[in-house]
Amino acid sequence: MVGAARPPTALVTGTDRTHPMGGGVMSLRYLLGRTLPLAALLLVACGGKPEAATIETVPPSSASATASASAVAAPPSKPDPDRVMAHLKVLAGDIGVRAAGTDGERRAAEYIAQSLKDSGYQVAVEPFTFDLRYDTSAVRLTDGNVKALALTGSPEVEARGPLVAAGMGRPEDFGLRDVKGKVVVLDRGVVPFAQKAANAFGAGAVGVIVVNNEDGQFRGTLGDSKVTIPVVAVERSERARLMTLAQSGSVATVVSAAGSRQTPSQNVVGRNGDKCEVYLGAHYDSVPEGPGANDNASGSSMLLELARTQKRAGLCVVAFGAEEYGLWGSQAYIKQHGVAGIRFVLNFDMVAKVSGAQVVGDPALQEKILSMLKQAGKAGFRPGQFPPFATSDHASFVSAGVPAVTFYAGDDPQIHQPGDNLSNVDRASVETMLSAGELAINGLMSTR
Ligand SMILES: [Zn+2]
Repeated sequence: MVGAARPPTALVTGTDRTHPMGGGVMSLRYLLGRTLPLAALLLVACGGKPEAATIETVPPSSASATASASAVAAPPSKPDPDRVMAHLKVLAGDIGVRAAGTDGERRAAEYIAQSLKDSGYQVAVEPFTFDLRYDTSAVRLTDGNVKALALTGSPEVEARGPLVAAGMGRPEDFGLRDVKGKVVVLDRGVVPFAQKAANAFGAGAVGVIVVNNEDGQFRGTLGDSKVTIPVVAVERSERARLMTLAQSGSVATVVSAAGSRQTPSQNVVGRNGDKCEVYLGAHYDSVPEGPGANDNASGSSMLLELARTQKRAGLCVVAFGAEEYGLWGSQAYIKQHGVAGIRFVLNFDMVAKVSGAQVVGDPALQEKILSMLKQAGKAGFRPGQFPPFATSDHASFVSAGVPAVTFYAGDDPQIHQPGDNLSNVDRASVETMLSAGELAINGLMSTR
């Protein structure tokens, strides 16, 4: 899922602007306490000795692990939650963090491609590039560095000078002080960011630090202003330190370093013949902050098991890359192949921790699936929606006019956190969501 489970309150207010899918800035709670249980789990899972990541192998199964061509040509068989769990352990355990554009994402793509090949699919790894936004801005003080965010429109430059506080950054604030050649520290509020920056620039300042007036970080915008000095924002908790240093005229360096770069990612596509009427999809990338066991090693693992067991003419599968940075994989897929001839798309995102199982997306398809699930006695599923600001790859297809839904097990407080690791997922949830997926595929593909 892209977007935060909780509204990104620390991110944007007022006239501030960010990339709508920019991943945002989240307060990370490094749940170190989870390291031990995870290690213990791995020990158990690997029979006492952790194995090195082997990404070329099909996960073991209680039954025969060889998915030969003849086996997959058989009529659809029952998907096995244990095999989903085994894939999950490779993707979120052995490989771990799979942030788009990283080696982890690439290795996950290789693993998925191999698994689809083993299930008898014609597999294509389809590269694309996406716009990766970065911000490594900082304020270097004599007693250490402070994390900063560049205001949108701040040039990628750095500047050095003595610190001086200049209130809110109104013209009269500058009139009281000589700021020429200095780095000014301003409080957020009252005056728009662009005006603060222009006033400081006009008074001869070489850099601007805007201190937040509420908790957390924020990214303001300078609009169309044409300042050539670095303008960055820091958290409110740094205010006292900055003010003390400013009193003694301590020297600081302001580094504004934010922008975007074209970054490679890839979709992994499994076809079965040349016709793709129905797609199963899931994104396999994670956020950089954690291994994304539930979000979304779970959906990709389920995708592999549904691909293996539900293989039939017209059914294709896509594992999407770079979802977390803004649905780039699904959009690249649509751009490359179009959507002609696609009847519907079933996507899987966050399916290994049931807190409120739901089907999200196209209302008519949603209703059809929910009534099938109800008829089959699978209570508890409801028409759903993602938390505010959040979405998944089905949305790209819905926008292109294709009925598409995402199977989603419900809100997860560990989303996009280091704690979304193997201890965050459970087999019972996988079993529930897997059988719902199987039922929907069979039900929808047997009717027109
Ligand atoms: Zn996500």
